[in-house]
Amino acid sequence: MKPETICLQGGYTPENGAPRVLPIYQSTTYKYDSSEHLGKLFDLTAPGHMYTRISNPTVEMVENKIAALEGGVGAMLCSAGQAASFAAIFNICQAGQNFVCSSTIYGGTVNLFAVTMKRMGIEARFVTPDMTDEELDSYFDENTRLVFGETIANPALNVFDIERFAEIAHKHNVPLIVDNTFATPILCRPFDFGADIVVHSTTKYMDGHATVVGGVIVDSGKFDWNKDGKYPELSTVDESYHGVVYTRDFGAAAYITKCRVQLMRDLGLTCQPMAAFLLNEGLDTLALRIERHSQNALTVAKYLEANDKITWVNYPGLESNSEYERAMKYLPKGQSGVISCGIKGGREAAMKFMDSLKLASIVVHVADARTCVLHPASTTHRQLTDRQLEEAGVKADLIRLSVGIENVEDIIADIEQALAQI
Ligand SMILES: *Cc1c(COP(=O)(O)O)cnc(C)c1O
Repeated sequence: MKPETICLQGGYTPENGAPRVLPIYQSTTYKYDSSEHLGKLFDLTAPGHMYTRISNPTVEMVENKIAALEGGVGAMLCSAGQAASFAAIFNICQAGQNFVCSSTIYGGTVNLFAVTMKRMGIEARFVTPDMTDEELDSYFDENTRLVFGETIANPALNVFDIERFAEIAHKHNVPLIVDNTFATPILCRPFDFGADIVVHSTTKYMDGHATVVGGVIVDSGKFDWNKDGKYPELSTVDESYHGVVYTRDFGAAAYITKCRVQLMRDLGLTCQPMAAFLLNEGLDTLALRIERHSQNALTVAKYLEANDKITWVNYPGLESNSEYERAMKYLPKGQSGVISCGIKGGREAAMKFMDSLKLASIVVHVADARTCVLHPASTTHRQLTDRQLEEAGVKADLIRLSVGIENVEDIIADIEQALAQI
C-alpha cells in the first residue's frame, strides 16, 4: 500500500461484523484460560498481551500503522516524544558510554541529553553538520553507541544529511537514530537513506489537532546487533526473562522487542489506549494535511521574502535557502509547515507583530492544523540577553511561524494586517 492508503487502512483490518473504526480496548488486563499460558507470556515464548503498561491491542494497532508508514519491522508508542527519544537511546546506551549527536536539535531534547542523561552517566557529544569526515570521526571511540539527528531541525530548520551520517555511523559499527517529527514519513522516510531507528513526537503533525501528547520509536530491523559482540544487551542472555536472547529469539525485531519488554516494563513510559485512538484519528488524514501544510508554508515563505518589513526568512523550500539542495534530496514532496523569520525593528517590532495577529494564535506548540506563532526571545528564551540569544542561534527578532491548513489567502491577510501595525 502507498502511504496515503496506509494512513487510512493500515494497522487495523476489521473482521466480518467487527467495528469499522479502531476500537478502544480500555482494559489494563487480559484474561487467560490457564496459568501455563500466562507463564509462557512471562517467558516471551507465546505472543499476547499481559498488562497495558507493556502492550495493549488499541495501542498495538496504531504502532503497526506507524511501522508500516516508516517501512519498519515494529514500533512502540510512548507517553511523549521525550520518552521515545530517551528510550530509543537508553535501550543501547548505559552509564560510561556516549553517543554522537547533531547540535541542531529540539531544545527539549538538548536538555534531556545534556542535563538529565548526563546525570545518568551517559555523554552526548554534539557535532555540527559543517564538520569534515575526519573531524566527525574524532568524536567516536570504543564506547560510542549511536548517532542522533533530526530530519528537519526544530527550530533551526536545517535539513539533516541522513545518508552521510548513516555512512559515518555504520563505518563505526553503530546505528543512526533520526527524529523525523517535522518531516513525518509522508515527506521523508529516513530508513530509505540508511537510518536504523526513527523516533517521533507524535504530538506534532501525526496528531495534528493539538489534542494528545505522545511519541513513537520505529525499528527498521536492518542493523546487525550481533556484529563484533558490540551490543551484548541484545546478543546475550537477558536474565530477567529466563534466558531470552533478543537477536536469536526475535531476529530483525530484536531492538524494538527489548525496548518494550525491558524499558516499557521497568519505566512505564506507556501510551494510553485513548491517546492511541486520538493519535490514530490524526494519522488518518496525515498525508493530506502535511501536503497542504507544505504548500501553504511555501506560499507564505515567498510572501515574507518579498516583504520589506521582513529582514530574513528561513524555510528549506525557498530556492534562496542554504538547505534547499538537501531539501530537494530528502523532502522533494514538500518541506513541512514551519518557517522562521525576522521582523525589521527587532524584539519590540516582533512582539507588536505577534500581538496584532488575529487568526494565528500565540502558543507554545508547532505543527497544529491551525496556524500558530511563537516569539522565543520573549517566551521560551526570555531570560537571555540579546547577545546570549545570538550565541544560542535564536535572534531577538526571530519569529517561528507554524503554518496551518486554513486557506492560505486568510493566513497571508492576517500577516499583512499585523505587519501594518508595526
Ligand atoms: C516536540 C518535539 C519533541 C518532544 O516531544 P513531546 O511530545 O513534546 O515530548 C521531540 N522532538 C521534536 C523535533 C519536537 O518538535
